[in-house]
Amino acid sequence: MSTAKSSSSTLLKSINQQKVLFLIFSEGPISRVELAQRTGLSHQTVANIAGRLLEEHAITETQLSSSEAGGIGRKRVPLSIHASYFHMIGIEIAAKSIRGSVYNLKGEQRARAVERTERYEDEEHLLLLLHGVIGELLQTMPDEHKVKGIGISVKGLVDSRTGCLLRTPGLGWQRIPLKDLLEDKHGLPVYLENDVNLLAVNENMKGTLRDSMNNVTLMFDYGIGGAIVLDKKLITGSTFVAGEFGHYKGFHGADALECFCGGQGCLTTLASISGLAHNTAHTLDSLKADLAGGKPEVVELAGKILESASAAIANVITILNPDRILLCGRILDMLGSERRAALTVSILRNIPQTCRGLTFDYLEQLPDGTELAAGIVLKHAFEVSFDTLSL
Ligand SMILES: [Zn+2]
Repeated sequence: MSTAKSSSSTLLKSINQQKVLFLIFSEGPISRVELAQRTGLSHQTVANIAGRLLEEHAITETQLSSSEAGGIGRKRVPLSIHASYFHMIGIEIAAKSIRGSVYNLKGEQRARAVERTERYEDEEHLLLLLHGVIGELLQTMPDEHKVKGIGISVKGLVDSRTGCLLRTPGLGWQRIPLKDLLEDKHGLPVYLENDVNLLAVNENMKGTLRDSMNNVTLMFDYGIGGAIVLDKKLITGSTFVAGEFGHYKGFHGADALECFCGGQGCLTTLASISGLAHNTAHTLDSLKADLAGGKPEVVELAGKILESASAAIANVITILNPDRILLCGRILDMLGSERRAALTVSILRNIPQTCRGLTFDYLEQLPDGTELAAGIVLKHAFEVSFDTLSL
């Protein structure tokens, strides 16, 4: 066999193996017969692949009870993924902490580590904390438990294609080649993504937005983040800034405060936790308590936040015509369900009639950011690299 033919047959084997492994992972326990039906591969090919995966301890044969096994041939024995075949590290870089976790293939958390700081002093400080968290997590993993890679969720802007941080909370606009720096240090593949993009992708795949084709996710939290999905594709824009709703000009007149971006009246100046801390004397907790107590100036402030958020979201809907809007974040939690209901009424009043068929969802419980980050490793682990294609 020529070298070209041999490498193409190896690649085909690898693609078929990935297909089978992914089905066992996502839908297992599953029998060889069903695997052959689902993949279109021959029974013999599936049997060979299953044999190899069993030898590698990637999968296990699930024991059938005696009643289930009665009269059923050996090939009906269901196959399951081996939870410890490999592990993923998920990291969340937030404004005042770096949290990390190790997950196995069943999504079980095997270890945790955290570093806290009031602020990142500079790039070196950020890296030092990151290395600390990753090092601590790797130490907990015995050698035989492979770690497949490191996924990182960033509450900031990232270029996920090159793995560069573009803006980090507290460090501002600064291009940091985080993927390269971490891969050099730890010898594992590293993937980066913005936290709201990760949340939106997760919700579009298997959560609240799974039935939606066009949607916008907006998070009002420490900062304000957004993710746009059109025709089920995440829109990142030409320089990864698409969905940066925090800098929509939402406040006017005396309320148009200066923003760290250089503009004035940006939503984030008063409708985010960091903006409130910077521009008012309020923390999230004090605001919540004063709002519950009906303090007039705080009720007025909440009204302004809702008004500007309503205008921003109404404009986004008019431009993008989504079928769903997913809202979340601690600012909206703090405002409470009645004010959130008033927000959607106000938005609906401000958008064209033809856009009003959309629905609003509210996520009270956000998935763990480290788990979403670990999910990027999983996605890459089940993809066959076509770079090696030499047909
Ligand atoms: Zn701004």
